[in-house]
Amino acid sequence: MNIHEYQAKAILRDFGAPVAAGFPVLKAEEAAAAAKQLPGPVYVVKAQIHAGGRGKGKFKEEAAGPQGGVRIAKSIEEAEAFARQMLGHTLVTIQTGETGKQVNRLYIEDGAAIDKEFYLSMLIDRATSRIAFVVSTEGGMDIEEVAHSTPEKIVTFSVDPATGLMPHHGRHVADALKLAGDLAKQAGALVEKLYAAFVAKDMEMLEINPLITTKDGKLRCLDAKVSFENNALYRHPELMELRDLSEEDEKEIEASKYDLAYISLDGNIGCMVNGAGLAMATMDIIKLYGAFPANFLDVGGGATAEKVTAAFKIITVDPNVKGILVNIFGGIMRCDTIAEGVIQAVKEVGLKVPLVVRLEGTNVDLGKKILSESGLNVIPADDLDDAAQKIVKAIS
Ligand code: ADP
Ligand code: MG
Repeated sequence: MNIHEYQAKAILRDFGAPVAAGFPVLKAEEAAAAAKQLPGPVYVVKAQIHAGGRGKGKFKEEAAGPQGGVRIAKSIEEAEAFARQMLGHTLVTIQTGETGKQVNRLYIEDGAAIDKEFYLSMLIDRATSRIAFVVSTEGGMDIEEVAHSTPEKIVTFSVDPATGLMPHHGRHVADALKLAGDLAKQAGALVEKLYAAFVAKDMEMLEINPLITTKDGKLRCLDAKVSFENNALYRHPELMELRDLSEEDEKEIEASKYDLAYISLDGNIGCMVNGAGLAMATMDIIKLYGAFPANFLDVGGGATAEKVTAAFKIITVDPNVKGILVNIFGGIMRCDTIAEGVIQAVKEVGLKVPLVVRLEGTNVDLGKKILSESGLNVIPADDLDDAAQKIVKAIS
């Protein structure tokens, strides 16, 4: 689960990490009041969307003005004017894709006098099963680009969970960022606080880009991006409250209600498959025959007809879907359950696109019989290859 920058900063603040003062606002009228509570004279108006690259982003609508999603205001009036321009408009960044994201919240933050910008992130390194730090003197910019063109400028290390964080980790970060004296001390203290927050909140990733030094010699987290491990969310009701459903894909929200493993994609062939491996193979073969999947969907092993119906509905309501491929290998899952679920869903929402069904395994004959007697316009397929070719042909 992802959260907004202002929410991430509130968590970091709770753990004692240095972040600037700021206030989230939902309406442009609130912007001036928020700015008045800040020291000034520079205010930063920041679009709150679940995507990075806001500073270099561009708004789609002219009314949103010519600047990006992070703007420096030199007066309270200017902060309010920026808020008016940005709210309700669609911001496109390298991370949002072409469609962009509507800006519904802003964060009005105290402007910092930046001396240097650094990069610091923490994540779970699956290879070592440890929390890893990634730090670089090249902050504020695209870290992927730094990793690509100047990999020597990125320092990574991981923390042994048996010892936990040790003072040498803090010194390592300070060295990597070429900080000395009091700033090195501040870096050590910051690393301790970030590590404590990361562990306590079951984070999956914490990215501070940029981490800055100010002209008056202070270290500060100027941006914060946090995501949490979904499997640990049950331990954190306080985090669940931070979820912003308007940032999430509606189809994915619906799927999560039925405990379906569903991920929305850009293509136009809807897939309903059981088993993650088979789902991946199905997506691969669709691509092999020249089309693109509209989703990843694993209905799971013991799905009920109700769950299958829900899954099929999620696929059919997607306007991008021009054809549907059902590919089921019945093991624990029975083919007749799939057939019944599909028929139920079509009764409820109709079927306006070609449907190719490939069934194999437990109760396959019964499943095929149910489908063929249903009067549905189903294109039956014998195997995975046949199924993929038929659905690609049916939509082209
Ligand atoms: P994003 O990563 O989405 O572009 P950031 O929060 O990193 O958004 O902001 C982009 C840039 O804007 C930063 O690298 C920094 O130079 C500047 N900036 C952000 N917040 C502030 C602030 N409070 N004071 C001064 N400059 C800021
Ligand atoms: Mg940033």
